[in-house]
Amino acid sequence: DGAAASMETAPQPGTASCSTPSHPPTEEDDFQFILCERCRQESPNLKLLTCLHTLCLSCLSENKPIGQCPVCRTTIPQANGIPNMDNVLFTNLQARLKVYKKIRDSDGPSCSRCQREAAAVWCSECEEFLCTKCFEDHQWFFKKRSHEARRVEDLRAESAHQFLEDTRKPCNLFCSRPGHADQGHISSIYCKKCEKALCCSCALLDSHHATFCDIRSETQRRQEELSTMNELLKRKRSGFEATYAALQDEAARLEEAQRETRELIQQRVEQLVRLIRQEEEELLGLVEARQEQGRRELARELQDVEGVLRRMEAGERLVEKMRLYATDQEVMDMQPFIKGSLEELEQLQPLPAGNRAQPGDLAECRARLQAL
Ligand SMILES: [Zn+2]
Ligand SMILES: [Zn+2]
Ligand SMILES: [Zn+2]
Ligand SMILES: [Zn+2]
Ligand SMILES: [Zn+2]
Ligand SMILES: [Zn+2]
Repeated sequence: DGAAASMETAPQPGTASCSTPSHPPTEEDDFQFILCERCRQESPNLKLLTCLHTLCLSCLSENKPIGQCPVCRTTIPQANGIPNMDNVLFTNLQARLKVYKKIRDSDGPSCSRCQREAAAVWCSECEEFLCTKCFEDHQWFFKKRSHEARRVEDLRAESAHQFLEDTRKPCNLFCSRPGHADQGHISSIYCKKCEKALCCSCALLDSHHATFCDIRSETQRRQEELSTMNELLKRKRSGFEATYAALQDEAARLEEAQRETRELIQQRVEQLVRLIRQEEEELLGLVEARQEQGRRELARELQDVEGVLRRMEAGERLVEKMRLYATDQEVMDMQPFIKGSLEELEQLQPLPAGNRAQPGDLAECRARLQAL
């Protein structure tokens, strides 16, 4: 039952128990239901929608462009956005509770007729407070002794529920025939065939039907009809509650699946980032190694070439000195050795610049970078 209860209360966040959590629930909170279900205000113009939600006229006017009940989103079929059915029950309850509040007011109500004296009684049929003097007039001058008048003092001691119960008006329906209601024809008879309340004279005229009953039993039958339908709907409601729970499960599952996928993405990305960082380190290491290797190779080559140049220099110098200063004997002794060395030098070829192995070749690094 919990799910259904939350379903009902969820779209109405402005209930009194929520907005005023500081004071304990009072009797007034029991009558929150008579307020407009959108603005939570009292209104003399409460309309009943086909979804059985109750809204005030100004909320309905504001809500007109939406064309739906703001609580349950049921379409409002009327073009002007105003349903035809007045919620007379709630409107009347508001008025009766206002009377009760006046009775409970610390000053107490004043007489509705003379407006001066404190009221002593409440006549529920005149719907008036009366002081002792005006009550005398009510009883004798206006001849309304049959009216049910109750002492304000007694009513003050009652709870709101009790007050509403006690002042529930006896059945004073008016005849449904046009004109008769205005003439104050009280109806007590119901014709089952016409489905209408009739006054005595109309019932006499309607004698060909004769399937009459009194109004009281008809209203009771109608109340029972509603109760029976309510019982049937309660059974149906459990089906909707099950669907609601299933949908909630579905929503939770979807949420869970999304969460899992998000986690998977994060994990995979983290893994990839780690791999790429690893590759970065390796590549940087490789560049370092290649650089070192290239540096060493170049240094060796430089050394080699430098050595050749020095040998050539030494050869040139020695040949020149031999030509300048050598005796025949010295030429004969040394010339073949020098010639051998120069021949060796002659064999040497400088490597053409483009033909050497590229020292510190980074092609592999570039290829691996491309493959990332
Ligand atoms: Zn409203
Ligand atoms: Zn609704
Ligand atoms: Zn008076
Ligand atoms: Zn009266
Ligand atoms: Zn009839
Ligand atoms: Zn009539």
